[in-house]
Amino acid sequence: MRQVLMDLPFEENALEPYISAETIRYHYGKHHKGYVDKLNMLIEGTPFETLSLEEIIQKAGGAIFNNAAQIYNHNFYFKGLSNQKSTVSDRLKEWIERDFGSMKIFQKSFTDATLNLFGSGWVWLSANPQHHLIIESRSNADTPLLYGHTPLLTCDVWEHAYYIDYRNARAAYIEKWWEIVNWNFVSENLGAHLYLHFPCDDRSGECAFHED
Ligand code: MN
Repeated sequence: MRQVLMDLPFEENALEPYISAETIRYHYGKHHKGYVDKLNMLIEGTPFETLSLEEIIQKAGGAIFNNAAQIYNHNFYFKGLSNQKSTVSDRLKEWIERDFGSMKIFQKSFTDATLNLFGSGWVWLSANPQHHLIIESRSNADTPLLYGHTPLLTCDVWEHAYYIDYRNARAAYIEKWWEIVNWNFVSENLGAHLYLHFPCDDRSGECAFHED
């Protein structure tokens, strides 16, 4: 199917002063849109034309994979940002404390991963098939979907994500990025992961998940 650029879940200037409208205009309006346009051009008249974005990511290589995965990663990144107050669910808090020790240690480890990622890429909080939370550093367009992980949150550390606002200061960008993380989105992603693996009537998965 023809891939479509997602709608931004907020106004262009909603993330100011943390991320400027100008950055969003370039990041969403040019980079993100560019991947969509390029992918549509590349898959026209090929078997990939009938596949979903996730299927293309699983099956393609080269430029088709790179553009498809970048669309998925950017969809995830923008949905993970908000200027509204958001809340960490009890389950997410519990899992973060279980797997990292505390929210503070998790944030420090995630920040370190963004600063240590050499070149362009993405840092993710994901749930692995053993239902533990992990921090993943992935280069270029690489994505947790390829490893059977459930992505919960991502930070784009390609320079185009921060160069207009922060120039080369990646650490300053990350510090401000934490201020606009949409914890509702992260919590919902964990809820959906639980529902998928431990189905029950309660969409949060609370009724079916038991730690062994
Ligand atoms: Mn980007």
